[in-house]
Amino acid sequence: MPAYDDQNIFAKILRGEIPNVTVYEDDDTLCFMDIFPRTDGHCLVIPKTPCRNMLDATPEQLAACMKTVNKVANAAMKAFDADGITLFQFNEGAGGQEVFHLHFHIHPRHEGLGMRPPG
Ligand code: 5GP
Repeated sequence: MPAYDDQNIFAKILRGEIPNVTVYEDDDTLCFMDIFPRTDGHCLVIPKTPCRNMLDATPEQLAACMKTVNKVANAAMKAFDADGITLFQFNEGAGGQEVFHLHFHIHPRHEGLGMRPPG
């Protein structure tokens, strides 16, 4: 697996070089809106420390991300009056990953409504 590249878009967001719409932030993680939302409320949770994807993540990075996913997903259930949440996470190009900084997609879902195609 290639090494972490700090020129990826989410690393630039973390350094403040690219703007984002922040949903939640703590010492270890950032959650912000996806630029091409596939559902209303589609947002991304990332660790603040370098990590290419789940395959090279530490237990601490995964635990911090999951803690934030849990908080944001429960808040999104209320904010979007959602019926459920879909959580996506991709690893390497063959696994569907396009941005190579670990991230979790949170999708609020509504009964009978599909997801929009990828942007
Ligand atoms: P994945 O790597 O899991 O396939 O998808 C990367 C996700 O990042 C996509 O859903 C895409 O819309 C989102 N994305 C790509 N560039 C930006 C950006 O500059 N800002 C934000 N907020 N999201 C982005």
